[in-house]
Amino acid sequence: MQFRAPRGASDLLPQQQKYWRHIERACVTLSQQYGFSRLDTPVFESSGLFDRSVGAGTDIVEKETYTFADRGGDLLTLRPEGTAPICRAYLEHGMHNLPQPVRLYYFCPVFRYERPQAGRYREHHQFGLEVLGDADPSVDAEVVELAWRLVSRLGLSDVSLYVNSIGDRQCRPVYLDALRSYYRERQANLCPDCQQRLDRNALRLLDCKREGCHQYGDDAPRSVDYLCDDCQSHWDRLLQYLALMGIPYQVDHRLVRGLDYYTRTVFEIQPLEEGGQSTLVGGGRYDGLIEEIGGRPTPGIGFATGLERLTLNLQRQEVPIDEDPSPQYLVINMGQAARETALDVAVRIRQQGTGAILGSAGRSLKGQLRQANALSIPYVVIIGDDEVAANSITIRDMATGGQERRPVPEFLEQL
Ligand SMILES: [Zn+2]
Ligand SMILES: [Zn+2]
Repeated sequence: MQFRAPRGASDLLPQQQKYWRHIERACVTLSQQYGFSRLDTPVFESSGLFDRSVGAGTDIVEKETYTFADRGGDLLTLRPEGTAPICRAYLEHGMHNLPQPVRLYYFCPVFRYERPQAGRYREHHQFGLEVLGDADPSVDAEVVELAWRLVSRLGLSDVSLYVNSIGDRQCRPVYLDALRSYYRERQANLCPDCQQRLDRNALRLLDCKREGCHQYGDDAPRSVDYLCDDCQSHWDRLLQYLALMGIPYQVDHRLVRGLDYYTRTVFEIQPLEEGGQSTLVGGGRYDGLIEEIGGRPTPGIGFATGLERLTLNLQRQEVPIDEDPSPQYLVINMGQAARETALDVAVRIRQQGTGAILGSAGRSLKGQLRQANALSIPYVVIIGDDEVAANSITIRDMATGGQERRPVPEFLEQL
């Protein structure tokens, strides 16, 4: 029997690693520039955390989480998203007592039992960040700007930034009423999912991708027309700040995001080529979330992005990425005595801080040279019986083919 990776999960192979390193470097550099600190949370949390934050009635919690009782009987859930664990840690470690806002970023795997398709996995990896403890729209603007800078720093082009405001608990109920009555008049033509969403999660009707439902979105009531005074002023200032910072945004009235906890600002960055399935970055404000999981009312805003999906887009756009460096030297050796010398020489090369590996014992000179080529190693050190006898090595430049013999101490000194 041969095992394979579980459905919806995948291995990150050596040739794909350079993309992840590229993404990680950009994420860390920018996060630090904007004053964020890294926080890592456990892969699993008490299931109740996601019932309270993501929402007990949502598709994610009801159908998509990996939830299990451990051997002690505690109910645990593999993290389906990154924000709630960060908020839990913020409270648990008393970060609400620090000067606010607190800026945190993370890299983590997230787990959702979804139907696997291109760019969508049951285990995927996210980078995300959160700003906790500041409700000012300038914070929203900076977070959106950071997301925009990140995408361009990665080398991705042909992307669009969409923003919307979905109000708060004061004004959203009025908007939801208007939305529901609009869709009730068209209920007969809605897909079965949307029929259910009408009562439970009416916002999601706006971003249903099925043709029957999609056609109604454009003329549906718009959340920005129902904002209370506070939400209106927050929204106006956000747009003003984005313009001030030169961020080219578009308002998308259908943008609502999939999670229950969002309030006011929501935003996404999408590649021009495709629809919403391919969102590169998604985020928004969640001013009620921390209260929902047991803290004092604390505003928050953040975004997340998927490493697999960014990689897919980097490959599709053929963005040039630096290769991970190969060792500088392959130490070729023929015979037992040469092998002993080669081990010693390789140790000393590495002690100088330069990369070196041994050629495979038992292969001919030609075979080991081929090995150097295959590994893109620029220099080989050749050690045979002659070299051992003379305490010297032959060094060969793989690009030019030029080679010369040198005493071992001299070679090591010149590294
Ligand atoms: Zn629908
Ligand atoms: Zn409001």
